[in-house]
Amino acid sequence: NTTVIEAEKGTQGQLQAKEQELARHYERLCKQGLKLDLTRGKPSEAQLQLAAGLDGILASDCRAPDGTDCRNYGTSQGLTCTRKLGADLLQVPHEEVIAAGNSSLTLMYQAVLTGYLYGFGGDAQPWRSLEHPKFICPSPGYDRHFTICEQLGIDMVSVPMTDIGPDMDAVETLLREDPEIVGIWCVPKYSNPTGVTYHQDTLERLAQASTHASPGFRIFWDNAYAIHDWFEHTYLGDMRSTCLEYGVDDKLIQFGSTSKITFAGGGVAFVSSTEQNLEALARVMNAMSIGPDKVNQLRHSRLFAEFTGLREHMAGHAEILRPKFECVYRHLREHFDGDGPEQWHETNGGYFVSFNTRPGCAKYVVELAARAGIKLTPAGATFPYGEDPQDSNIRIAPTYPPLDQLDTAMATFVLCVELAAVRQQLG
Ligand code: PLP
Repeated sequence: NTTVIEAEKGTQGQLQAKEQELARHYERLCKQGLKLDLTRGKPSEAQLQLAAGLDGILASDCRAPDGTDCRNYGTSQGLTCTRKLGADLLQVPHEEVIAAGNSSLTLMYQAVLTGYLYGFGGDAQPWRSLEHPKFICPSPGYDRHFTICEQLGIDMVSVPMTDIGPDMDAVETLLREDPEIVGIWCVPKYSNPTGVTYHQDTLERLAQASTHASPGFRIFWDNAYAIHDWFEHTYLGDMRSTCLEYGVDDKLIQFGSTSKITFAGGGVAFVSSTEQNLEALARVMNAMSIGPDKVNQLRHSRLFAEFTGLREHMAGHAEILRPKFECVYRHLREHFDGDGPEQWHETNGGYFVSFNTRPGCAKYVVELAARAGIKLTPAGATFPYGEDPQDSNIRIAPTYPPLDQLDTAMATFVLCVELAAVRQQLG
């Protein structure tokens, strides 16, 4: 079982033999007519079933604990009991939380729109008054964050992700030198796609660097995977307290949702920040809607208050997802030794595994996989403007397919990576 790395050290003849062996194997796979999908980070049906209790839980009793009739308009900040759920998720006081509709991404778009159109109050000018407002985009990152910037014409400046968060030397330089930097996207825990959790040093440096950022600058802290631990628990420091320490709590806007806790398409989303920021955001939110879906908010509050706590509920997800992540890691470890150009980061939770091919191979790997019936996220999608300067990063989303299908998909994936690598070396 010669690995690519061993073949690499061998002669041209050995490489050619390896290429022929892999190509034969690959052509056989192509004929199997596989149709598997490793693209979007969706929960599996078994995971969704964990929250089946949401259906019918209200039994026609739509009164919240404070007496609010959830069927009617109003209560634009969301039910108090649901804001408390968001506060538990984000580890902040509930007075600083708005509970909204089903999507935190919508809240992020509305928050960026707020900054762009009106600014967040105080000394902060609307970003549209700047010639080239820019966001710092730690990359690889979440493609949908980048789409928001792209749609609003906000420039994106990539900074590399490291094993402890964004490259803070680069972030500090940008914040010191460019007054048109108006935001940074952060997925601080089990980052999409790298799986990295920010170290406390990163939190401190980001808070400190924010002290000399422009008044309109905001940190978009998308804590989508706050309690999504599948192996051991990974500690993430408290960004709110860190920002308070440096006197920049007004720079922080946190987001979260129950999309990967209950129903991905029918959960509750949360935003948390200072009163002034939330007021500015509410101006946009309240123009778009007379109030959130409080019926669904009440369902969520009842589910977690009456039956099981949020964290206990997540143990069920961990049972389902652990074997899937183990499967991905097993295939990668069996084929690559971690010392070569092929690199990945093993994490304790979240929804993705980020894999780096030999530079210049990612697009070709995705193409090979597609021909073999495995759909992968387009190479480059994890970078602003869809451009991975190394053409190396591929995001693997292992949560949705059943384990046997994931196993087949991963076996095909590693074969495609090996074949692309050998062909590149052959030139
Ligand atoms: N943020 C991150 C980092 C994600 O990975 C995702 C979904 O994959 C979302 C936000 C979407 O969240 P929501 O369903 O609350 O809009």
